[in-house]
Amino acid sequence: MRIETKCIQSGYKPKNGEPRMLPITQSTTFKYDSTEHMGKLFALEESGYFYTRLANPTNDSVAAKICDLEGGYAAMLTSSGQSAMFYSIINICSAGDHFVCSAEIYGGSHNLFGVSLKKLGIDVTFISPDSTEEEIEAAIKENTKCLYGETVANPALSVFDIEKWARVAHRNGIPLLVDNTFPTPVNCRPIEWGADIVIHSTTKYLDGHDMGVGGCIVDSGNFDWEASGKFPGLCTPDASYHGVVYTKDFGKAAFITKATAQVMRDFGAIQSPMNAFLLNIGIETLALRMERHCFNAQKIAEYLESHPKIAKVTYPGLKSNKYYDLAQKYMPGGSCGVLTFEVKGDMAATVKFMDSLKLAMIATHVADARTCVLHPASHTHRQLSPSERIAAGVTDGLIRFSVGIENYLDIIEDLKQALEKV
Ligand SMILES: *Cc1c(COP(=O)(O)O)cnc(C)c1O
Repeated sequence: MRIETKCIQSGYKPKNGEPRMLPITQSTTFKYDSTEHMGKLFALEESGYFYTRLANPTNDSVAAKICDLEGGYAAMLTSSGQSAMFYSIINICSAGDHFVCSAEIYGGSHNLFGVSLKKLGIDVTFISPDSTEEEIEAAIKENTKCLYGETVANPALSVFDIEKWARVAHRNGIPLLVDNTFPTPVNCRPIEWGADIVIHSTTKYLDGHDMGVGGCIVDSGNFDWEASGKFPGLCTPDASYHGVVYTKDFGKAAFITKATAQVMRDFGAIQSPMNAFLLNIGIETLALRMERHCFNAQKIAEYLESHPKIAKVTYPGLKSNKYYDLAQKYMPGGSCGVLTFEVKGDMAATVKFMDSLKLAMIATHVADARTCVLHPASHTHRQLSPSERIAAGVTDGLIRFSVGIENYLDIIEDLKQALEKV
């Protein structure tokens, strides 16, 4: 099936006489007839639902759909993009371990990796996404457990050279983790380019309508944890599951099974079935929406680039953009609906412009059906130091503009009237 069809048809498949629409299994728990059966579920000897923190049919159907869209082997939903990132790292890193991460990532990820994970003893080195293979290699240490980047960085909009990073990762016996939130699997499928684990904030385009915060982790099933020899947590007996060895007992599903049975069991950031139901409705129109987001963003990027009051526009679809060729390679159908720009003049001009917008709403949100706008330096990246902000691609005058699926002419008229006020 093609990606547009998968958005509709993958995941939930009703059997004879069952509801056509994915049902919301709004139940924390599940009933069994015998103690023995329940015991087997707890021992992971049989698969079945017994407690929603571990698994829920609605969530599983939606995870299966996203898994299929990404071309993965297994997937799980989490309560947010943040928990998806946290779980994907903690599933393979312990205190004393280290990973190498692109410096151009979402502000929340930067705090999680650079501050909170460090408190847990997991160290990170941030390097430019444009690093050469030699530079990436030089950042890898004996205790490095993975490489990490964003396909299209929020909000730097740098395009991550997945194949290059995957080559270095695999040469060093470690997996590549990629946050694919911005392009979505409609525009890019990192697994096809060598990524091993794909992470999403489903809060953005996958949901698409400001409805629910959520996350997803997809495993390609391709990484050979045993051959690597660096992942005892996956390849040796888990004492908290009386000796289960994830790679032996679950094969290609090892990573997601451990992330569910151990990490989700212990940390508990499950997505609510109600939110998973809403997410599924969002995904049904994902392909249609992405096409319009990218069409509109291209028109607006071109309009702004030719406007005399605009100092700079960053959008991978512009020929002037330094990532144009990489974007064409990884996302020939379009990258995303987010662009950034700077208004000529000082900070006061930026604020005046933003406050004059009428259709584009100021919102801590991005990648949504409605056009919205944000000032990263004082909003999402406020907690970073000035030098960290620059490394993350966030200058003081940078405006992040998330183009919705309205008629692009209305968005351009809104920009035009706001620019006239500056
Ligand atoms: C928003 C975002 C996150 C965090 O996701 P939440 O759902 O807000 O927790 C992670 N990565 C990227 C690229 C994002 O845009």
